[in-house]
Formats: sequence, C-alpha cells, structure tokens
Amino acid sequence: MKKILAVSLLVAILLCGCASNAPVEREIFAMDTLMTVRVWGDEDDAVAAVSEINRLDALLSVTNEDSDVYALNHHTEPRLRYDTCLLIDSAIEVSRRTGGAFDPTVYPLVELWGFTKDTQEVPSQDEIDDALAFVGADRAFDRWEYTLDRNALSNGARLDLGGIAKGYAAQKVVDLLQSRGVETAFLNLGGNVQTLGSKPDGEAWLVGIADPENPSQAVACLRFTGSLALVTSGGYQRYFEENGVRYHHILDPKTGWPAESGLSSVTVLAQDGALADGLSTALFVMGMEKATALWRESDDFEAVFITEDGAIFATEGAASLLTDCDFTVIER
Ligand code: AMP
Ligand code: MG
Repeated sequence: MKKILAVSLLVAILLCGCASNAPVEREIFAMDTLMTVRVWGDEDDAVAAVSEINRLDALLSVTNEDSDVYALNHHTEPRLRYDTCLLIDSAIEVSRRTGGAFDPTVYPLVELWGFTKDTQEVPSQDEIDDALAFVGADRAFDRWEYTLDRNALSNGARLDLGGIAKGYAAQKVVDLLQSRGVETAFLNLGGNVQTLGSKPDGEAWLVGIADPENPSQAVACLRFTGSLALVTSGGYQRYFEENGVRYHHILDPKTGWPAESGLSSVTVLAQDGALADGLSTALFVMGMEKATALWRESDDFEAVFITEDGAIFATEGAASLLTDCDFTVIER
C-alpha cells in the first residue's frame, strides 16, 4: 500500500523550557501542521499571535478557495494582499539566490507526485516532463505584476508557498508580539522554531535537531540566547514508499524527482524566519557542496547538515552553538 507517512513534523524539539515567569501557551492546528506558541506576556498577546497565524493561513493556503494563492492560481488578475506580495518577493529572492533550487512554481510537480492527496504513486517520466514544462519562476511568474504568466497559467502553472509560508508566519508573529511590547516568546510552527529575545531567567534556549532515522529523538542540540529562526527540512518529514524505495516531498525543480543530494536534513539558522524556511528547502535540494558555496558568499545564515550516512556538518556560526554531538566544522 502506498500511504503517506507524515513523521513527526515537530522537527525541532524544545528540550528545556522552564523560566522564572510562566509563559502563556497555545497549541493550534494551522497550515496543515501542529503549532505551539509560548508567550511571556498576557493572554491577549497569545490570542493575537494565534489570530495572526490563522489570518496568514487563510491568505496563503494553496487549497482554500478564498486564499490569495488560490486566486493567483486560478485568475489572470488576482487581487493580492500586501503580505502575499511580500512573501512572493522573499520566495523569488530565495529562488534567485539558490539558482532555482527553491522554486515557488513547483506545485504542478507536488500535485503530480500526490503530496496533496492521501495516496501517492511514482508518476511516469512523461508525466514528469509534462509538469516540468510549467515549472520555473523565471518563465512562469511575472514578478512585477504578481501574476502567473497568462499562457503558463492556462497550461497548468501553479504557485506553492508551502516551502516558505510557515517561516514567514513565524516572523510575522514575532514582529507582532514585539510591537505589543512582548520581550520573550518561543514559537514552534510545525518544526519552524523562532525565538524572540531571551528567557526571563537568562537561561539559554536549547533546541534539538531531530534524528532523521528516528525523528522523535534529538541527534544534536543548539544552545543560544536571543532572537533566532531555526528551520529544518528533511526527507523524513513526509514521504511514501513504493517497491521498497522512499520518495520524499522535497522536489528538485530541475529533474522533477525528489531531490537526491546525499542529505537527510538541513537546519538553517537566520534572523529572518522566511529566509530560514526558504533556504532550508533550497539547501536540501542543492546538497552540501553547493549549499556550502552559497554560505561562503553570504552573511545572513548558518546551517547544520546531516548526511544520509548520519554525519553532521556545521558552518562556523552554527558550530559555535552546537552541543551534544560529534560534528565537522565547515570553515569559511
Ligand atoms: P519545507 O518543509 O519547508 O522544506 O517545504 C516542503 C514543501 O515545499 C513541500 O511539501 C512542497 O509543498 C514545497 N516544495 C517541494 N519542493 C520544493 C522546492 N524545490 N522549492 C519550493 N518549494 C518546494
Ligand atoms: Mg522550507
């Protein structure tokens, strides 16, 4: 039976959350995943955080017929909200920086592989080639008009912001809480972790990186203080098996097949949540060599890579936060 296995989306596990002031905590199901919001503030702050997530979910869902993304995918002149345009800008920028490894027009392939449905099967190469004809942000999307190219749209081009939306939502919630005067918060939006400030007792945040072989266990920990976004992308998070072969949900927009880059997960650390989310998906597709080259020419993210054989590699900045594991440092 080809049945999808959505394994523990809580990729990053909060290992220690005690603080002197008890936070207000909310758990919600949004953007197709379980989310935890922990706010060192009052009830109203937590309520505001949850409504912000729900607002963005309604805007960015690819299936909700009232969403902006749905409008983009079905109309030639969609009316988009400001947030949608901002997120599209971030998605296109990540796509540009990663040579198209992240591509917001990948949806025809995601649908073809069945990751939007309950059951999946490996498509034929002809079907993959047909879908590939509509994939490519450069060709299919008009970034000035914020529309899918008219021809591409009628041929089946579709936008999917699923690889970056949770990180954007986390960033927006942190910004909102900060504007309400909240100094400390911890968010886990289905594995997209984002912290605001430091814990009131001065203790470091301690966030686990899931073991790709056994995702309910942490294979390493990141210890840090202050505000940071940490996002993990991994083939183990969503996949199906056919004839003993595993096919996961992160697709290589160049081949149309699940990315085979020798990695089983990538965790990206950045100040901006959307950037961390978009890059984690992209670096997984790129593999360690290309991802490391991108890191060397950038100054706005750090990364931890776990290879298919279980070895852990960390860029210098991430290495200084990594504990409880053996790893190799990637130097500039
Ligand atoms: P993430 O869990 O953030 O790595 O995002 C994975 C999701 O992003 C998938 O379930 C797809 O909906 C979408 N996706 C898959 N491959 C790509 C890609 N190469 N670029 C952008 N989005 C992708
Ligand atoms: Mg992502």
